[in-house]
Amino acid sequence: MERFDALVIGAGAAGAVAALKLSREGCRTLLIDKAARVGGHSAGKVDITQDAGIRGIILELGIPRKPFVSHSNKSEWNSRNSSFFLESSVTDLFVARGRREDSFEALVSGKAEDAGCELRLSTQVKILELGEGGFSALELASNGSRAMVKADCIIAADGTRSGFAKSCFPSLAKEREVVISGHGMLAKGLCLDGCPTRIYFDSELLPGGYFYMGACGREGEGVAAAVVDSALASGRGAKWFFDRFAGKNKAVRTAVSRAKVRGTFSGSCSAGRMPSRHHRNALFAGDAARLLDPLLGYGLNHAIFSGYHAARAWVEKRWEGSEAVAREYEAALAEKVLPELNDGERAKRVFNRLSNQDLDMLVGFLDQVSEKVKLDEFFDSPSRYPAELLGTLASRPKYALLLRHLHHLL
Ligand SMILES: Cc1cc2nc3c(=O)[nH]c(=O)nc-3n(C[C@H](O)[C@H](O)[C@H](O)COP(=O)(O)OP(=O)(O)OC[C@H]3O[C@@H](n4cnc5c(N)ncnc54)[C@H](O)[C@@H]3O)c2cc1C
Repeated sequence: MERFDALVIGAGAAGAVAALKLSREGCRTLLIDKAARVGGHSAGKVDITQDAGIRGIILELGIPRKPFVSHSNKSEWNSRNSSFFLESSVTDLFVARGRREDSFEALVSGKAEDAGCELRLSTQVKILELGEGGFSALELASNGSRAMVKADCIIAADGTRSGFAKSCFPSLAKEREVVISGHGMLAKGLCLDGCPTRIYFDSELLPGGYFYMGACGREGEGVAAAVVDSALASGRGAKWFFDRFAGKNKAVRTAVSRAKVRGTFSGSCSAGRMPSRHHRNALFAGDAARLLDPLLGYGLNHAIFSGYHAARAWVEKRWEGSEAVAREYEAALAEKVLPELNDGERAKRVFNRLSNQDLDMLVGFLDQVSEKVKLDEFFDSPSRYPAELLGTLASRPKYALLLRHLHHLL
């Protein structure tokens, strides 16, 4: 039987970061993935994610710049008949993912291997044995052969349909979940007329979601994608919504029709409650822990954050036992990630019920507010700007109706 300090299941963003942190701390680490190559589980794509909370991790672990193909803090937000411009203090990072040589997971897993981590591909956990301290032995299956390993700690980062989470939490199937589906393209020459990122809302054409276009790399490369809430999609896939929106919105139609498509990507992720983010000596990270923002479908920043903190908690608290490790990890999530997810869940409940008329009014209202205040400061704490808020509300009586409507939905 082989012995490891830590077994990391899944070499996606969360698992690769966890394996890198553990290996750099001198832990004997085994990283496994069921795919035949790192990133093989998804087509080449570019995820947009906010840098809040992950910049320090990237610097500490010496993660190379290559997967960060672009960044921007300027965006234009559109409803059918209104728009506002946001210059934010938080930067959006455009990160290469999946089956590309420069993908985040490929480069970070490679760095983990350089730091001493063992990587086994086409490998899955078949049988778990429970001992006194938790999962004591695991049987791994890989290309027809089987091997028994022992690991003191398990980090389960096996993605949105985590088999490991299902086996640890039989009640998981009953928890409420939001399934976000996306379809997009990477293309050369997606012309954005000066604004690096554009987001479009349309409650009829993009139910519970949005369309975005972003300039994401060298040589005029761009990404365009439609994101929808599967519960509102009447059984249709996100590609159907992408095509319909791109067909009906003139600016998007023009940009997409001129672009040279380099690849397409599709998929879905679940957000929602988990009974817990740990079980015995196992910690759940990334999508396996359902750390996905239910409103925007962003999960990469939380995957990086949770992969790092699962590994850190184990490195720092292992001598005090798995309960102390779990407490440390849950505390890190409770401080940074869980409040954001709760806010996202509340906002999503309102967002899903807004009509196109509501969206026009809301976007128009924010456009007017932006003339008086920096919008992201306003979003952080609207009550600090009573004069600006009241002034904008008073400028059009329908804004007061909108606020009453939003309050009612909350
Ligand atoms: C179409 C689409 C667009 C998205 N766009 C964005 C975006 O713009 N911004 C953003 O922040 N987020 C986005 N997301 C979400 C984001 O991609 C995820 O939140 C993020 O990838 C989660 O990382 P992870 O490491 O938890 O899981 P993953 O990256 O999914 O990695 C899981 C890994 O586990 C492996 N695995 C699965 N089962 C097993 C098993 N049994 N044994 C061994 N290995 C296993 C898989 O092969 C995979 O390598 C998008 C998702 C989709 C589907």
